[in-house]
Formats: sequence, structure tokens, C-alpha cells
Amino acid sequence: MLAEELVLKQRTKILHALCSSGSAEHLERVLDILLAQGALIWEDYQNIQVPGRTLYTNARQLLDLVYTKGVDTCGLFLHALKLVLPEAQAVGLSFSESCSNLEENDECQSTSNQTLLAQRPSLVHKLQGCVDGVLEALLDSGHFSSADCDEVRLPIYTPTQQARRLLDHVRSRGDLAASVLLQYIHQKQEPGLPLNQRELTPPKEFLTYQKKLSSSVSAQSCFLSTYGGTSHMSLDDIYTDGELELAEVNAHGPLGLEDIVGLAGIVNEEADTVLVSGEAGSGKSTLLQRLHLLWARALALQDFLLLFPFSCRRLNSEHNELSVQELLFQHCCWPDRNQEEIFQFILDRPHQILFTFDGLDELKQSFTDDHRVCCPTQRAPVHVLLFNLIQGSLMKGVQKVVTSRSEAVSPLLKKHLRKEVVLKGFSPAGIDCFVRKHHRDPTVAAKVLESMQANTALLGLCHSPVLCWIVSQCHKELLGCGEGSPKTITDVYLMILQHFLQHQSLLKSTMGLGWLQEHLKTVLLLGQLAFEGIRSTCYIFSGTDLEACSVTEKDICMVFLIKSKDMSSTHSKCYEFSHVTLQCFFAALFIVLSSNTNRSVIPKLFELENMREAGLTRVCFGACLPSSDQQQQASEKESKAAETPNLQITAMFVSGLLSQRHQNLWLHCCPSAAVEKKARQVAKCLSKGMQKHFRSIPQPVQGEKKSMHAMPDFVWLIKCLYEMQESQIAKDAMSKLEVDHLKLTYCNIGPVECTALAYVLQHLRNPVGLQLDNNSVGDVGVEQLLPCMHICNSLYLRNNNITDEGIHKLIAKVIQCDSFQKIALFNNKLTDACMQDFSYLLKTKQVFISLRLGNNNITAEGAKQLAEGLKANQTLAYLGLWGNRIGDAGTEALASSLEKSNSLVWLSLVGNGVGSAGACALANLIRKNTSLQELWLTENCITRMGVEGLIQALKHNTYVTSVWLRNNDLSLEDAEEMKQLESRLIF
Ligand code: ADP
Repeated sequence: MLAEELVLKQRTKILHALCSSGSAEHLERVLDILLAQGALIWEDYQNIQVPGRTLYTNARQLLDLVYTKGVDTCGLFLHALKLVLPEAQAVGLSFSESCSNLEENDECQSTSNQTLLAQRPSLVHKLQGCVDGVLEALLDSGHFSSADCDEVRLPIYTPTQQARRLLDHVRSRGDLAASVLLQYIHQKQEPGLPLNQRELTPPKEFLTYQKKLSSSVSAQSCFLSTYGGTSHMSLDDIYTDGELELAEVNAHGPLGLEDIVGLAGIVNEEADTVLVSGEAGSGKSTLLQRLHLLWARALALQDFLLLFPFSCRRLNSEHNELSVQELLFQHCCWPDRNQEEIFQFILDRPHQILFTFDGLDELKQSFTDDHRVCCPTQRAPVHVLLFNLIQGSLMKGVQKVVTSRSEAVSPLLKKHLRKEVVLKGFSPAGIDCFVRKHHRDPTVAAKVLESMQANTALLGLCHSPVLCWIVSQCHKELLGCGEGSPKTITDVYLMILQHFLQHQSLLKSTMGLGWLQEHLKTVLLLGQLAFEGIRSTCYIFSGTDLEACSVTEKDICMVFLIKSKDMSSTHSKCYEFSHVTLQCFFAALFIVLSSNTNRSVIPKLFELENMREAGLTRVCFGACLPSSDQQQQASEKESKAAETPNLQITAMFVSGLLSQRHQNLWLHCCPSAAVEKKARQVAKCLSKGMQKHFRSIPQPVQGEKKSMHAMPDFVWLIKCLYEMQESQIAKDAMSKLEVDHLKLTYCNIGPVECTALAYVLQHLRNPVGLQLDNNSVGDVGVEQLLPCMHICNSLYLRNNNITDEGIHKLIAKVIQCDSFQKIALFNNKLTDACMQDFSYLLKTKQVFISLRLGNNNITAEGAKQLAEGLKANQTLAYLGLWGNRIGDAGTEALASSLEKSNSLVWLSLVGNGVGSAGACALANLIRKNTSLQELWLTENCITRMGVEGLIQALKHNTYVTSVWLRNNDLSLEDAEEMKQLESRLIF
């Protein structure tokens, strides 16, 4: 089909793919590419990107334009679209194969302004992290005023949008301004590198080494280990983009893989280490594996000549002291000759070398910076080398990407980070995409997806890629189990246990619950191995370790254990669990099923205490355990931090396995009395843990609400209570919590945690304010929270990736909840499409008092719809719309609907493109309204005329206490004069 036809036929789909996320990033990236290619000229661009217009309208305008420009432009457009859209959003779209080459136009441009256009995509990329520097340079050179700088830095813009606004402004200032920008970027790219080094061409022996390294990296990374025992699934076939976010900067734009080492979101320019953090199973190792593969195939990260991948898990078993040179060559790739020259070449070009360290949380030692090593030939214990590399005291300038579970990252480590990127797991579209890739048969895929959708708890869990993998793997069990469909994480792991045990079974499907009994011996052996491993922070097991636990070849065949990959191949035949969470699950099975464990194991586990001395005689674990007692003491102290996340996961599984719901499973496997006793122990530990939290709540200051800020373990305890699925235990635990406000900000709360929270919080006795700001709740999380909405009087979900879809479901629920009064949704992805829902909420709920929707994508259209609801509401006191785009038309609609309100006391329209027409409408509001006290109009474009209208109105109003007007279109003199006329105006 011709490109033109493809554009026309797929118009709706393309619009949806470009705009449904609410973020303008995809559209703007397509525009960047088309501008660079000359497919659009500057005037076209300006006609498309009209400020204040909706994203959909802009996208439609682009589609119209490319279509009228003909087949070549359509071809380029489709190609740009393919490049820009994340895989999940591109599903179902066909792109023309008449592929045009979209390489940037590197030809010499005659003017700097032409270069800005021709290199726009890469400039947007390069500018992130240095917008401030460029602005300073432009300010110094007199090309920009401070008002220009403020406009570029407006907080409503994401970092990429700031970069684009900067480029747009520079363009309008002429060629000299453009050359200042280009010069700045140029200097930034090659900081302080002497010219002769820039021109070094790699010697032949280096190229041979590079080839050897990349083919070994490629071979190591092309298959996913979890699929190792079942089907060989290549990474290409199954890899699905996860959601990546910057930890520090609120950026709406989706991050791509290369942004990990890119300039976006740098918080410490001096540091070389990027941390990718995320929960166990969120896909950190797989993401690194993908990066490795793309580098080895020259498809990404091509600024790096060499990439050295390390696994901290494997580094644990290196007991010799090594130098950096030995570390690189012995653990990654050995140069067949010219070792010294190659190493020297690496030392000479640090900026072109990349190290990756997977699973820093699995390293036995916690990060410290007290042992300095600066010389790359000096030998030191491997963890000391690693810590010095991370800090940059060794191999300064070499970029390092480290992965770790979030809870294991210490503040000390954070000090040395260039940036932190958080991997959140799959988006809803990602789950869809993954399941379709896993099941080639579309009918099976559709059935699996259908059964996931039918079970919201399960769907929530599937955001975690490892759980999504298990659920897809066990689709037969899933589709067959109807009523008993899994809802807890333990259910999902029991499903995979049953799946693999029955697959291996010679008798094939053992009916009923007998499957566990039939394989009890294997489960106990693997369980003991896992348990011993967790106790000694050991994740790789040698043949001797297996023998010590009597694990045989037959048990290994069970898929739960896989052969350990090793770049250096010095360790022959080592095994590991196919995922660390599976090791925790087996350890938990052992704790539940074994009659050998000490009675103190459960209390110690829940107190996250070091369990080394507990009960069992130690098996060998030669590779893991230190040799002398002294060494052991030191190592126990150090490894405490590393153990905690795994102990928490194990405890969570123990809670789940000891739930009443699963007690039939254990009937013929161990004495019921013992299981019941263990269950009572767990219930007691959970209740004790909760009490400890509640006791830590400070008494409120007089007149203030009693508030509890959750400590890190609170969410974990909640998850354990959810796994138990015993409402009486959850009820007992919650009945003692007496707070008005529960604060769980920055707690890594995603959909999985929301399910558990809702389950537990619904047992609270009195309504609370639930504050979940700065997490990753998302639409699915919102849906999971619905069961506890009746106990919430206010809900704070600032910065949580929520779209109109989530809001639609939320509002449908909260209008039925009597006590619900406040909602804060600052910095999400809301558009005009959900304003009808809010309008309905305002009309229906005459107890509602606060609506805060700042920093979303609401335009005049949305404001008009909201105004309909406001007209019918007599209780709303606070309305915040800071940082949207409602403009004059929206302001007029809002102002007229609020004239008769006698409840509204606070209104913010900061940063909304409000001009004097809007100000006049607000003046009318002031004239007629008798409740409004504070009006925020900072950062708009109100002129003298508009302010004069406000002054006149204020003469008739004694209720308003302040009108904030900083940063509008007024001269200093005007502002001074107006202030004299009306002291309530604040400039
Ligand atoms: P983590 O390192 O965060 O614990 P892993 O990367 O080991 O998580 O992921 C666990 C499993 O989840 C993988 O073995 C794979 O089956 C699945 N998985 C994770 N990320 C992805 C992805 N991006 N695409 C496809 N499958 C994934």
C-alpha cells in the first residue's frame, strides 16, 4: 500500500498512538525528525504547534499536512512514527516499507540556524541537562533576556520540551544566537579532551578485542534465562519495553533505553554512575541484557567503544584480590594478545567505555566509600574495586550503569549518582504486548488477556514482568481455574510450582492436590538450598552446595534451577534459581514444610534479623561463606543490608503460604498442628510489626490532624497481610490505627501495592486522608484502590502517571462514597476528556471541598466543561488549576460559573495563558462573589488593562485578601503604580 493510503486509512489509530498518553512528546519527536529532514518547513511547524490548542488538534493538523504534501512526506512521516512510538503503542499499525533513510542531515549547513533544524532531534537530546548552561551563555552574550529564559524554564515543560522551546526561541533570535548554542553543545560534548586524543584511531589489536568482546556479549545476552528450561525464547522475540522514569525530575516524556546514559535528568554532572532501580522482577537485568545486545549489534550506545558487563551475583564468588585490568579481562573478555596496549587504550578513552553492574543489591557487602583505591593496576578485593569505580575514584570518566532494588540503595550511594532511573515494570499496553509476544497463537493470547482483565488483582500483579511471565507461562492453569483464579503473589508462584512439577511428572497430571505430595522431596531439597542461600546471601550454587543439600540431577531438571551464565567461564557448572524471587519462594516453602527449622525462624524472619545461627547445621556453600570466624563476623555485619529485601520477600511468601486458603495443600505433607502453629506465629509477628509502626506516630500538634508517615517497612507489612487474605487479621491490625492522615509519599507504590493497601485499609475504623504523592500508582493502581475509597475523605495522587481513564473509574466510585471531599492530582496526564467526570462529581457531591488539578493538560474546552459542574456546586472551597492551558476562554467560563458560589475561597489559575480578557472576567467574578479570598494569577499574560479591571472590581469587594500577579505583562513602573492603588494586589 502506498504511504499516503497508509496515513489515511490508519488516521484514527495514528492519532490514538500519538496522543492517547496525554503527553505531547511523541508528536514533538515526530516533528523534530520531519523538520530535520526538510519534510516540514518552519512555517509548517508553527502552523501545527499552535499554543493553547489540544494535542489531538495539533496531531490532526500534522496528518492533514503530510497527506497533502504527498507520498514522500507520508513515507518519511510513517518512518518517523515507527522510530518514535514505543513498541506497545505501535502494535497494529503498519508502516510503509519504502523505507527512507532518516539519518540526521549531516551535510554541512551554510548557517547555524540551518544546523539547528537539520540536527534538531539530536540537539533536543543533547540539550537535556544543559538547558540552564545554554541559557546562561545566551544571557551573557545578550541574545536572551531573563524573561526569555523564564519562558523556556516554565515548570509546565518537561526537560525535552524545555530543550525544544529553547531551540525555537534561539531560532527567532538569529544566526549568532544559534552559533552560541552550537558552540556550547560542542564544548560540552568533548570536555577538556585534548585534540590529539579526539583524533586517536583505534589500533588494529584493539579492534580485534572489540570484536571478541562484542560477540561474547551478544552470545551471553541473546536468550532470556527464565525461558532457558522451557522454550528457547530469544530476547528479540520477547523483549517488551518497560516504563522508565527519572527518580528526581518530574518528566512526563517517556524515557527510552538510550536515555539511561543520555543527558536527561542528570543531577550530579561530576558523577559517572547511573542507577537503574526497581522492585525484584521489574526487569532490571533484562533491561541491561537488552542494552548489552543492542550495543553488541551496533544498534545502540555507539558512543561507547567497549561495554563490560558484570553481574554482582557472580562477583560475590571472586575471592582473590584483583586490579581493574584483571577484573575486566578475567571476568568479561580476555585479550588474546597486546593486553597492556589494549588496557592503555581503555585508560586513554574513559568517555568511550561503559561498565554495567547488574544487581548491586546482591553483592554481599553494602556500599561504603571508606577504602580508597585510585590506581587501576593496584589489587584490591573486588567489592572495593566496584565501590571505587562507582564513586569515580577509579577510572574516572568511564560511565557505569548499576542496577539495584530500590530499597537497597543507601543515601551514601545516592551521593555518587549521576542520575537515578526507576524501572516501573510494564504499562497496561506493555502487558498486552508481552502476552502477545509470549503466545504466538493470537487466540491463546486473547484468552490469556481476557482472563487477566477479568481479575483486576491479577492484572495489577502483571505489571511486574516476572509475574507477567509466570502468568503467561501457566496459561493452561490460569484458563482452567475459574473461581480459584490467583489473586496474590503467592497464588501466582504456587501456580508456577504446580505447572513445572506436573510438567516433569512421569505420571503426568496428578489429580487434585496430590501434586505437591508427589514432589515433596524435591520441593524440600530445593527449599533447603534456597533457604541456606538466603541465610548466607548466596545465589549461585556449586556442585558441592547441591550435594550438601542432596539435590540431584533429577531435581535440577525441574527448571527452577538454571545453569549460571558466566562471561569468564572459570566456574564450571554452577546453578542459580531462575529468578531471585523464586529462591525466596522455595525458602518460604521450606520454612512452612520442614519440621527441622528452629521455632525462632519465623520471628527472626519478620524482624529481618540475620538468621545465620538459626537451627540448621550449615552446609558448605564454599563459594559464599567466608573462611575465618573474624571474616565471618565482618561479613555478617556488611551483608545485613543486602539480605533485607530477600528476607522481606521470603516473609511475604511465608505469610501467603500459611494462609487458611492454602492449608489443604499441606495436609498430607506435614502435620496440620505444626502448620497452624506457624500461621499463628506469622499473625502475631504482623500484628507486632504494625503496633511498632503505630507507636511511632507522634502526637499531633494542637489543632492539627494526627498524621502518620509510613516508615519503609509499612508497605511490606501491608503486603504480607494481603498475602494472608485473612480479613480478621487485617481488621485486628488496623483497628488500632487512629490517624486522620496516612502519608505514603515516595514509597514505590505501584499497582501491586495498591491492591494490598486497599485490602488492608478498608478495615480502618475512621475515614482518613490518603496521601500517595510521588509513587507510580497509574490507572491500574487507581482501580485497585477503589475498594478502600469509602474510608478515604481525601485522596492525594500528585505525580502518579494517571490518565483520564483512571479518573473515569475513580469518580464513578467516589461519588458513592459519603465522606469523600478532596482530591489532588497535580502533575498527572489528565486532559479535557476527564473534565466531564469532574463536572459530574461537582454536580453530584454537595460535600466536596477541594479539587486540585495543576500541571495537567487541561485547555479552555475542559475548563468549560468543569464550569458546568461548578455552577451546580455549593461546597467547593479550593480550586487549583495551576500550569494548565485554559487561556482567556476557559477563564471566562470558570469565572462566570463561580459568580454565585458562596463556598469558594481559593482559586489558582497560575501559568494558564490568561490575558486581559480573562482578567476582566475575573473582575466580574470579584464584583459579584462574596466568598473568594485568594486569587492566584502569577505567570500569566495579563496587561495593565486587565489589572485596572481587577482594581475597579476590588473596590466593591471586601472579602478578597490577595490577588497574586507576579510575572505578568506589566512593567515595574506599572506594577508599582497599581500597588499604590490597591494594596491587595501582589506583584
Ligand atoms: P529484575 O532484575 O528486576 O529482578 P529480571 O530482569 O530478572 O528482573 O526479570 C525477571 C523476568 O521477567 C525475566 O526473566 C523475564 O522473563 C521477564 N522480563 C523482565 N523484563 C522483561 C522485558 N522487558 N521484556 C520481556 N520479559 C521481561
